[in-house]
Amino acid sequence: MHDLEHLEQELVTASHIVHQQGLVNAFGHVSARIPGTETFLFPPRRSPALIRVDNLLVLDVEGNQLAGEGRPNTEFWIHARIYKARPDVQAVCHVHSPNCVAVGSVGETIRPLHHPASAFKDGVPVFDRIGLIRTRELGDAVAKTLGACRAMLLRGHGANVAGEDIRRACVLALWLEEAAGLQLRAMAAGQPRYFDPEEMERVHDQLFAEPGPVNRAWEYFSSLVAEC
Ligand SMILES: [Zn+2]
Repeated sequence: MHDLEHLEQELVTASHIVHQQGLVNAFGHVSARIPGTETFLFPPRRSPALIRVDNLLVLDVEGNQLAGEGRPNTEFWIHARIYKARPDVQAVCHVHSPNCVAVGSVGETIRPLHHPASAFKDGVPVFDRIGLIRTRELGDAVAKTLGACRAMLLRGHGANVAGEDIRRACVLALWLEEAAGLQLRAMAAGQPRYFDPEEMERVHDQLFAEPGPVNRAWEYFSSLVAEC
């Protein structure tokens, strides 16, 4: 399979996974940089559940639509300006994860208390401004808030997760939401015992030093949407 076709297929699979796992419903979007360029594959204005290879668009970091039928999701500036600011980022998940919204709403952010959340050892900044990200300026502000981190919350809205490839961005978006759910339960029950920096580093090395765990998670989650 040609590299671009493979990328398109993985983007479709990731879109279906974030839907199947409850991170999005009618809204939200996953994108992928076309390697070595300032352009990216992006879905049209449809639920991630309905994304297919033949309805993907191509946009650039300046917000121009270069290919594809239909109009892009209105929040394309999130993706465009993260790709502009972060040459290392190859994929972005913008999700409306309910537990992430709840954590952001109580003046908290994700703080690792279970193994997979060690992916976020560098922090999960919160973008405080409510509302859709529909301008270049807001896209730049979102990218600035993300900084060098892997994930951020958008208060009252959802989360953005940036990855070195689609698989990692997708799996980390799932693990971010899992972390948020566990954090809410722990906060409701008492005082959570969050990982300290040394603990986070140790688990991070075990889970993320090589691609095995992320690939195994991808294999599992993609099997759940294989018939889509
Ligand atoms: Zn949104």
